[in-house]
Amino acid sequence: MSKTISINAGSSSLKWQLYKMPQEEVIAKGLIERIGLEDGVSTVKFNGQTESETTDIPDHKAAVKILLDDLIRLNIIANYEEITGVGHRIVAGGEYFKESALVDEKVIEQVEELSLLAPLHNPGAALGIRAFKELLPDITSVVVFDTAFHTSMPEVAYRYPIANRYYEDYKVRKYGAHGTSHQYVAGEAAKILDKPLEELKLITCHIGNGASITAVDGGKSVDTSMGLTPLGGVMMGTRSGDLDPAIIPFLIDREPELADAEKIRNVFNRESGLLGISEKSSDMRDIIAGMHEGDHNSTLAFNMFIDRLKKYIGQYVAVLNGVDAIVFTAGIGENSDVVREAVISGLTWFGVDLDPEKNVPGANGIISTDAAKVKVLVIPTDEELVIARDVERLKTK
Ligand code: AMP
Repeated sequence: MSKTISINAGSSSLKWQLYKMPQEEVIAKGLIERIGLEDGVSTVKFNGQTESETTDIPDHKAAVKILLDDLIRLNIIANYEEITGVGHRIVAGGEYFKESALVDEKVIEQVEELSLLAPLHNPGAALGIRAFKELLPDITSVVVFDTAFHTSMPEVAYRYPIANRYYEDYKVRKYGAHGTSHQYVAGEAAKILDKPLEELKLITCHIGNGASITAVDGGKSVDTSMGLTPLGGVMMGTRSGDLDPAIIPFLIDREPELADAEKIRNVFNRESGLLGISEKSSDMRDIIAGMHEGDHNSTLAFNMFIDRLKKYIGQYVAVLNGVDAIVFTAGIGENSDVVREAVISGLTWFGVDLDPEKNVPGANGIISTDAAKVKVLVIPTDEELVIARDVERLKTK
């Protein structure tokens, strides 16, 4: 028996899940928040209990130390040796990584180098990898990339119509993201539909704080909404999604201080999306509450969010030249019957039709009517499990 830990580290947080493998049993999970800030919080859930402690967590190494000590303090493990593997979720793998890989110094440097493609994600992930390497140097350490599933996209989809030299010199192309999630829910959808994945055309909608839509043909990603970075595609919590690129020089002409890469990245990554339009919140629950209270900006934010989702699903029906099922997953996709109903009710021409008795909070599985030509499913994503499986597959000892 071995114990494997899945890690999803961001700039100031670290989400983890401890598995007994190969049984795929979750032993404990937790979240460390406010890394690098005062009053860090570590929460551990195990055996139906939740333990939380507040303490200063100066950096990622301290966070990993707290996590490992919590596991011992709470008798979840007896000693560090019980942990035989760790898998790290990495948002950007660029053209370096077509699949998951064992960690060595070169891999860590490549993950750091790719921070330009995922400025909100890769730096924290690299810190998490280094912290584990320092504290548990001998265990199997694996990196699992959000981009890997999308490396099957054809050139016609991943290239941008700009001068070739930008691709040749800087590898400016579409990489996509959330690949582990899209891959997982596509596989689960095939099981639920009881059809071979190779014969299915699916549109998978990962709609959380970050959101992306993928066209999956025969189990392979053939197009996805996120682009060079996780900023492209549909509207998100704080990210704009697709824009007319002329907006950037237009704004710089009027506010010259925006002619700074970090500042302009912030405008579109952190100040846009639901937050930018509602001027209230990036959280869909707040947006829906605002809409129900009659707040104009929340209603506009909601309607724009739905509009962008519908347009991408429509595009991908065209890319796939048909679709067997649309799958919803992640925080909003799994939990919001309101968002699912708003999206699907605008796509009925394609042969989708929701069963209101099935499209309810807590829905899981098929939510379309029996007669609908195109099925609609809700499938809770499980990126942590995909990571733990990859660690098991690549285990060196
Ligand atoms: P994620 O990034 O996948 O954790 O998703 C976070 C998003 O899910 C946030 O915008 C939450 O507001 C949203 N969310 C979670 N539960 C619900 C719910 N019951 N209704 C609407 N949105 C929800």
